[in-house]
Amino acid sequence: GFRPAARIASVGVSKILQIGAKAAAMKREGFPVIILGAGEPNFDTPDHIKQAAKAAIDAGETKYTALDGSPALKQAACAKFKRENGIDYAIDEVTAGAGAKQILFNAFMATIDPGDEVIIPTPCWTSYSDIVEVCGGTSVLVPCDAAAGFRLQAEQLENAITPRTRWVLLNSPSNPSGAAYSAADYQPLIDVLLRHPHIWLMVDDMYEHIVYDGFEFVTPVALEPRLKERALTVNGVSKAYAMTGWRIGYAGGPKALIKAMAVIQSQATSCPCSISQAAAIAALNGPQEFLKDRQASFKRRRDLVVGRLNAIPGLECRTPEGAFYTFSSCAGILNKVTPNGKTIATDADFTDYLLEDAQVAVVPGSAFGLSPFFRISYATSEEELVEALNRIERACAALK
Ligand code: PLP
Repeated sequence: GFRPAARIASVGVSKILQIGAKAAAMKREGFPVIILGAGEPNFDTPDHIKQAAKAAIDAGETKYTALDGSPALKQAACAKFKRENGIDYAIDEVTAGAGAKQILFNAFMATIDPGDEVIIPTPCWTSYSDIVEVCGGTSVLVPCDAAAGFRLQAEQLENAITPRTRWVLLNSPSNPSGAAYSAADYQPLIDVLLRHPHIWLMVDDMYEHIVYDGFEFVTPVALEPRLKERALTVNGVSKAYAMTGWRIGYAGGPKALIKAMAVIQSQATSCPCSISQAAAIAALNGPQEFLKDRQASFKRRRDLVVGRLNAIPGLECRTPEGAFYTFSSCAGILNKVTPNGKTIATDADFTDYLLEDAQVAVVPGSAFGLSPFFRISYATSEEELVEALNRIERACAALK
């Protein structure tokens, strides 16, 4: 029979995908399910980006490219880091892959030996710890409470560090909490890192362009140039430019790390898709004004969702600084009983109840390493959000 490799024994299919599959199956059976689970903007990829891809096809840019990104894409990434973040990365200090996910995978594959530890604050995007496990490493999950804005505190970081710590992984704005680190939030963490020169810093800036209320996005290497020689600054076009299906992510870091990552990529995919690279170049070098309109539209939805959630007894939602998720406490719902006589003991019981009784698919905090919470992705139409929140409100009111 089939025997999976030990390295995937502890890695299951993500809870998010499981809920998505169940919701999709219910939809096929005719239930009017509203899915607030996907981490994907409901906007279309802008026209000038699509045009660039079509032009690339017509120009015959349909062959293998340089291993970790064409020179033009690397130039565009360097220019982006300079223009938007004030960081000078040379062309051999940037890399591109099939999504930020592959960038993370390449980086961990290239650096982690069995037993090496990666400190990851939770709640976090589930793939972080899963990728670390697949690479043979150990994730050291550090729970960060709502009271601390879901942000890692310097003392927590200090306490999590061991001689085996290889990386600290930070994500701002965060999936799933939407919390973002200001310069003042980052500084105490940077001070800790400067005292521990054996630790590298990976930052996932994927949601950089989705921030609200004048929040000033910053990235650690821009704040502390001494970190540049041991940091990987990860970004991508998926969320900002509504390009999830094109699969292009990129990163800046020290040359030796970038080279090691290319070794992994060369044995996995040879290079990112040539046509998608042309599209990503257009995204990075092209007009950026439309990002503001999309941001304004996301902000309206954020305010709608946060306002409605906080008006529901038993739920409590912190206002996120960025991304397109809310991460609400459902502590006040626990131990209540559903109309079918089932006790809600965990956040997963609550999200099961919402899916089965209210036909709204959301993801429990347990999937992100922090309970009792649930995540809503508001990257969907306002009409759908209003209907979903009506249903959640009714479902909560029906609990005894
Ligand atoms: N980083 C974070 C925090 C994400 O939420 C996601 C996607 O959900 C990714 C990275 C992956 O993005 P990509 O589509 O570039 O692989």
